[in-house]
Amino acid sequence: MVYTFGVVTIFPEMLSAVTEYGVVGRAFRDQRCRLCSVNPRDYTQDAHRTVDDLPYGGGPGMVMKPEPLMAALNALKQQPALVQAPVLYLSPQGRPVDQLRVDEWASASGLILLSGRYEGIDERVIALGVDAEVSVGDFVVSGGELPAMMLMDAIARRLPGVLGDETSSTQDSFVAGRLDWPHYTRPFQYAGLSVPDVLRSGHHERIQAWRHRQACERTVARRPDLLERWPLSTKEQAFLQDGYRDGKSDNPLLKTKG
Ligand code: SAM
Repeated sequence: MVYTFGVVTIFPEMLSAVTEYGVVGRAFRDQRCRLCSVNPRDYTQDAHRTVDDLPYGGGPGMVMKPEPLMAALNALKQQPALVQAPVLYLSPQGRPVDQLRVDEWASASGLILLSGRYEGIDERVIALGVDAEVSVGDFVVSGGELPAMMLMDAIARRLPGVLGDETSSTQDSFVAGRLDWPHYTRPFQYAGLSVPDVLRSGHHERIQAWRHRQACERTVARRPDLLERWPLSTKEQAFLQDGYRDGKSDNPLLKTKG
């Protein structure tokens, strides 16, 4: 199955940043996913191809007009691969996206992403044409394209066969409710810091146990909110307690920088 991303944007050229680079760019080239972008300017009736207008009630900025946006959405909905696809409006007012939702979207066959600009879009488009508003965080960017690309990347890397090593994305932060463990590569010594001995032991079980404990410790220290949804198992609680008792959890790398 080829996953289809439908994107409504007045800047379709921006999307090449996700369709042409890196492992996700390869997924597009290998046709594991494809992009159908639609520009609302192509659905305007005036010579200036106007997609925005002044806000009712006054105030700064412009608002995206409903007619071109709805026509662009309807054009995407005509595509057989997108008839059933949910329509998401990228918005700072939406529910923040998390990995669980990314995985839900990745298990469908397509998604329509609506990118706003200016002060946002006419509220009636949300009422008539949008299934959910989604945010990439509690901050405001100038347009929905970057947030849309973040979702496209996050979804594409979860599609079967996209990452070379299938286990790689299942080990990422959030996938199992834990942050990822620390990673090291050569050289063994760098700027006075060395790689933990266990990682050079060749002892698979000890390495796995160390990584699991590091992941739990980091999650407890940095993102205790994740434990509400994914509580520590009895085994995890036990080896965390062991770690604290023997002082092994006194790891400076546990601290978040910044
Ligand atoms: N006036 C709007 C507000 O405060 O809610 C912000 C408009 S913003 C300048 C323009 C567009 O950028 C929005 O319509 C939305 O598509 C996108 N956008 C901005 N921040 C976003 C975020 N955190 N998550 C998702 N989309 C965002």
